Amino acid sequence: MLTYAVLGSGSSGNSYVFSDGESSVLIDQGYSVVELCRRLDRFGVDYSTLKAVCVTHLHPDHAKGVGTLARKKGLSVYLTKQACEEESVQFSKLGIPQQLVYPITPFELIEVGPFSLFCFPTSHDSCGSVGWFVRYQEEQFMVLTDTGVTTEEHRSLAKSATVLFLEANYDPGMLATGPYPVYLKRRIDGRYGHLSNHQALSFLEESGFAGNHVYFIHMSDVNNDPALLESAAHKKVNTPFTVCRKNQWYGPEREAK
Ligand SMILES: [Zn+2]
Ligand SMILES: [Zn+2]
Repeated sequence: MLTYAVLGSGSSGNSYVFSDGESSVLIDQGYSVVELCRRLDRFGVDYSTLKAVCVTHLHPDHAKGVGTLARKKGLSVYLTKQACEEESVQFSKLGIPQQLVYPITPFELIEVGPFSLFCFPTSHDSCGSVGWFVRYQEEQFMVLTDTGVTTEEHRSLAKSATVLFLEANYDPGMLATGPYPVYLKRRIDGRYGHLSNHQALSFLEESGFAGNHVYFIHMSDVNNDPALLESAAHKKVNTPFTVCRKNQWYGPEREAK
């Protein structure tokens, strides 16, 4: 049976897991191995089943635990060739054993146990950044995070997804009046920054997403308020959705309670 979960999302750590009980794959790994295990345990995913980690980009909240995990567990690490080459300082800092690194290009198909995956480009201030699309039987998961803008390609992928993990990083009003310095505000709401609540909700509408659940992810704890997003989403979104709060974990079984 398929288990999937948001193990955590936001500036203090990001990771998503997909598991059939025998093979598990992570998208991003921004945690220590101890913390990762604690989070996997919550969903009954056995650490020993981890086969691969697929990386969106090399910012520490997404990648800082990748090297340690790869060295401990000997699992494969998939990230874009462009990220390896153009973010070489960040990349070498992770210390991933060379034989475990699989540099890939967008839309190249990867098979991990029963999962097939590919990545697609995003627009972020980390070279070679991507989102991921995960297929398991009839289920299709899309992880779209850390992107300043959405594209036609993103919309058409979302249209075919059954579950969407979608960034809703900031509320524009809170960002504008918040404590961040101007250069940081510009970075966040710029082309290579993050998606706002408004952008996320428009994206959902425009893509014609017809899946069965949306997880709003990567919320800023300074420039966003889960209650604001929740009330805006209630007005606009017909699909069941979950607003993922900072550092919390979410999966289908959590909602069932
Ligand atoms: Zn980032
Ligand atoms: Zn991030």
